[in-house]
Amino acid sequence: MIRDPQTLNALLDTVNRFVRERLVPAEALVAETDEIPADIVNDMKQMGLFGLTVPEEFGGLALTMEEEVMVMLAMGQTSPCFRSLFGTTVGIGSQGIVFDGTPEQKAKYLPKLATGELIASFALTEPDAGSDAASLRTMAIRDGDHYVVNGTKRYITNSPQAGIFTLMARTNPQDKGAGGVSAFIVEANTPGITIGKVDKKMGQRGAHTADVIFENCRVPVSQLMGGKEGQGFKTAMKVLEKGRIHIAAICVGVAERMLRDALNYAIDRKQFGQPIAEFQLVQAMLADSQAELYAARCMVIDAARKRDEGLNVATEASCCKLFASEMCGRVADRAVQIFGGAGYLSEYGIERFYRDVRLFRLYEGTSQIQQIVIARNMVREATR
Ligand SMILES: Cc1cc2nc3c(=O)[nH]c(=O)nc-3n(C[C@H](O)[C@H](O)[C@H](O)COP(=O)(O)OP(=O)(O)OC[C@H]3O[C@@H](n4cnc5c(N)ncnc54)[C@H](O)[C@@H]3O)c2cc1C
Repeated sequence: MIRDPQTLNALLDTVNRFVRERLVPAEALVAETDEIPADIVNDMKQMGLFGLTVPEEFGGLALTMEEEVMVMLAMGQTSPCFRSLFGTTVGIGSQGIVFDGTPEQKAKYLPKLATGELIASFALTEPDAGSDAASLRTMAIRDGDHYVVNGTKRYITNSPQAGIFTLMARTNPQDKGAGGVSAFIVEANTPGITIGKVDKKMGQRGAHTADVIFENCRVPVSQLMGGKEGQGFKTAMKVLEKGRIHIAAICVGVAERMLRDALNYAIDRKQFGQPIAEFQLVQAMLADSQAELYAARCMVIDAARKRDEGLNVATEASCCKLFASEMCGRVADRAVQIFGGAGYLSEYGIERFYRDVRLFRLYEGTSQIQQIVIARNMVREATR
């Protein structure tokens, strides 16, 4: 749902200009230094990018899902590390509070998240609990008016910069499944938290992940999300479901960028006395990419609209994440092929995108997990 096309178009114009004039020219520098320059981060804050999904009463823009998708399609036109910086705050880091936080928790944290003063990370994955997230072992044991947290979280995006963690921990050791898990808002400066060394990754330099280690970390009872134990896994799944549409939109945006670069290269590059874009085998790669991109774009917008209408989009969200991230991988591969040898060299930038987009098929639920969710929902529907 687009509430006011004029307001949205003004925002999209600003984001498009920012991407074109500030982010694209900084791509190579960020990849080299593994840091997003402070002035770019400040500009992101000024533009309200950290508050895209925070309700207006707390200072955010309260975008609908369709509007958020439009902004992510625009953000996808550059290196995905830029989106990652505010993406955890806009998405998985803050939405738990928006969905299930108490009025006090919302009032305390959402205004600071909306301005970017506070960065939020989402801490679910552990060394032994990835796809099987419900088996997580981090413990939060009640002790008076605190919970004592012990455990390690792995690959946590933006954890080195985070001011708060949406933490999933087991409050009921007797319940080894999803029902024993609770969500907490943990302030990063709470004693007993250590951030591990920043991980060396395949791509998305400029976006940082690290372990977050909790050792006898005393978290006040007031930080239990929604004031209720045993709801944490449900909160996490709601947050991830919305996040799947968000990530799928980014996949579409980045694929558009890679395909545009490949098309321009194919028009410029001559072999056998003519532009390689004239060769039908090259055209097949361009055409397949364009067709798949169009399909993914339509899917993402459809799912976003359905979600805005209040429909259950669990299956659609997983279909979008699965198809768009796999499509993005295929487009990246074809783009490198169209660039030929230049596609393998870092100065052309396309190999960087090729590495960057590999992540989309892995995090926020791997492709196999999306397949499982889709098929499980189909069987459940058919046998109800
Ligand atoms: C850069 C990066 C950033 C991340 N950011 C965050 C973050 O901010 N917060 C957070 O909590 N997590 C984060 N993650 C973790 C990410 O969500 C997990 O890595 C992902 O869910 C997969 O878990 P895993 O790595 O343990 O793989 P595993 O679960 O061990 O899976 C390994 C392989 O087995 C397959 N597999 C597993 N189970 C099944 C099954 N039942 N059927 C078929 N195949 C299966 C998987 O699809 C995969 O191919 C991040 C990861 C990375 C790499």
